[in-house]
Amino acid sequence: MKVNIIDKTDKKITFLLEDTNPQFANALRRISMTEIPNLAVQTADVSKNDTVLYDEIIAHRLAMIPLVFKQKDFEFKQTCKCEGKGCSQCEVVFAINKKGPCTVYSKDMKSSNPDVSVLYDNIPIVELKEDQVLKLEAMANLGTGRDHAKFKVAISSYRYYPIIKLLGDVKNADECMKLCPKSALDIKGSKGNVTTDCDLCQECVRLAQPNNIQITGDNTKFIFTIESISGLSAEEILTSAVKIFKEKAQELVKDIQRIK
Ligand SMILES: [Zn+2]
Repeated sequence: MKVNIIDKTDKKITFLLEDTNPQFANALRRISMTEIPNLAVQTADVSKNDTVLYDEIIAHRLAMIPLVFKQKDFEFKQTCKCEGKGCSQCEVVFAINKKGPCTVYSKDMKSSNPDVSVLYDNIPIVELKEDQVLKLEAMANLGTGRDHAKFKVAISSYRYYPIIKLLGDVKNADECMKLCPKSALDIKGSKGNVTTDCDLCQECVRLAQPNNIQITGDNTKFIFTIESISGLSAEEILTSAVKIFKEKAQELVKDIQRIK
C-alpha cells in the first residue's frame, strides 16, 4: 500500500491511498472518526444559574466546545489507576464564574490543567443580563465518537480515483471541459486526462456528443480526506487511526489463533 500526501494543513489532510481496497479505506475512515480518544465535557455541577437557559442546555453547549490537550497525558476514566474516582490523569475541571451584563464565552472556562484549553476563545455560551450570575464546574474526560458524537475528532471521507477513457474523438471537447463543475477535465484529440478534483459526477459523460467519454472510479486507489473538528491536528488523527487499526488487526489475529 502506498500513501502520497496531496495537501496538508494543521486541520486538514488529503492524501492518495493506493494498492488497497474499499473495505480497508472504509475501516480507516470509520476508525479516524469514531475510535480516537478525545476530551469533552461530560458532567456539569451548576451552583448558580440565573440565565434563561436550563442547566442541561448549558451543559450540552459546554460539551460541544472543542478542547486542546495532549493525547499521551490522559487515560480513560474506566481504565485509570484512580479506578474511576477522577484524578488529574483522567479528568479536567473547567470553572465558570460570571456576573452580567455580559456574554459568557468559551474563553471564560477556566481550566484546572494548564496544558488543557479551549480551541476557540469566542464561542458564545449564554448571555447574562444585569446582575444575573452563572457559576458552575464542568468535568471533562476522555471518550470516543462511538460513545457520543461530542467526542468525534474528525470528518473523514474518501472517493474513488477517477479513470477517464475516450472511445473516440470528442467533438465538443472544449464545451465539455468548460462545463465540468470542477474544471478537472483536459481533452486533446483522442487523449483525455482528469485531475484528482474530479468527483465522478458524470456531467462530461452526459454532455459529450456523441457519447464517447467514460469516467469510472478505480477501486484500488482513493483520494482520502481527514478534517479535524477537535483540538487534535489532522496528522495526529491519521497516525492515531493507523495505530488503532494495527492494534485491532493484531487482536483479530490473536482471536483466530485461539480458535485454531
Ligand atoms: Zn483517574
